[in-house]
Amino acid sequence: MSKLLEEREFRASFQKQICAEYPFPLVIIKANMLGEDKRSLIQTIVVCEGYFALKKLNLKNILTTYTLEGLIFYISIDLPIEQLKRICVDIEENHPLGRLMDIDVMTVHFQISRRDLNLDSRSCFLCDEVAYVCVREQTHSISDIETYIIDTFKKYLRTNINHKRWQRLIQTALIGELIKPLGYGCVTLGDQGSHKDMDALLFIDSARIVSEEISKAHPFSENFDQLREVGKIAEKRMFEMTRGVNTHKGAIFLLLLVMAGLQHPDPVSHISFLSEDILSDFEGDDGSHGMRLYKEHGITGIRGLAKEGFSDLFTRTYPYYRSHSIDETFLWLIGENPDTTLMYRGGQSLYNECREKAKQIENVDDRIEFDRWMKIQGLSPGGSADMLSAILLIDCYWWIMEETNDEPTHKNRYRRYLGIE
Ligand SMILES: [Zn+2]
Repeated sequence: MSKLLEEREFRASFQKQICAEYPFPLVIIKANMLGEDKRSLIQTIVVCEGYFALKKLNLKNILTTYTLEGLIFYISIDLPIEQLKRICVDIEENHPLGRLMDIDVMTVHFQISRRDLNLDSRSCFLCDEVAYVCVREQTHSISDIETYIIDTFKKYLRTNINHKRWQRLIQTALIGELIKPLGYGCVTLGDQGSHKDMDALLFIDSARIVSEEISKAHPFSENFDQLREVGKIAEKRMFEMTRGVNTHKGAIFLLLLVMAGLQHPDPVSHISFLSEDILSDFEGDDGSHGMRLYKEHGITGIRGLAKEGFSDLFTRTYPYYRSHSIDETFLWLIGENPDTTLMYRGGQSLYNECREKAKQIENVDDRIEFDRWMKIQGLSPGGSADMLSAILLIDCYWWIMEETNDEPTHKNRYRRYLGIE
């Protein structure tokens, strides 16, 4: 039996178990994707959007799994099952990513179908036929299906409502960072890393709120003080939501400036111009880790990088990412990018050891060993994870700004996002 089938069987019994434990209808959100390994950026964003669309309902319990089937949500909701199914069908039909979602509603006894509500079967997204007929007959080529998926995702990011476009881009960047296969101490979709107080769901919820707030700053790309004001509100809302856990504080600062930079022809010089006076921050003391490292060791951290317009990010790291996987890019960042989160937690000598280890990695065994070592040391390269978000923001933004869909690039991006390699 293939691994994917095994996981499906596991899921079936897992769902029954949840239904037995929580006496409410259970909603399962998956994505309609191809292949034996469905883990990817697009898959992840699709199911998260399904979850966000249901958030206003009376959610009683939320669980996630991350396997070859990709990210899946299991949400127990206190609503009559027919009403709930209608809401889910509406999301599948009308949400901009709804056609890529697969939302099931079940109880311990049965799974409700569209037919039970006298609704039409789901139609194929490429023709007028009923969807399962096209699947069974393999009517459409994999290439046509891939093109449809990526076009739908691009359209979703590209919405011409400015605020919404930035919200989606930033949310994609923040959630996308979690798909890195190994966290090396950071939270991933499948692993809490070195953290006992945070998991993927907390990051996903935080990404939603943070992206809603940061995107409000898109018209202020010329004004550092206004950007900072928005950043403070975003931070406050983040801490309220996470009850004091720092999920995205560094990312808020970084992504606000990257968003401002991307709106100018030369992002590096624009960010550098915006951050001209940033080192004057060190004249005060906000009690942060960054501040302490500066006072004790003269390390300027993220502020120093901002003053240089994140030039390394745009001119070295991003080009590196274009020809390497997410995992390789993350390791490169750990080895190369000054990470004050890591330095603060580990102290100078452990920090140096960690960076050396990251640079020496050669194969999968090394990676797994490094991941284990980081967790034992209680280290977490949060600053590098933030940089990975920034890379995804740059990549998605430049991608949706391209007027034409140059076919090879288009497909390349698709494969990268879908992890088909
Ligand atoms: Zn069809």
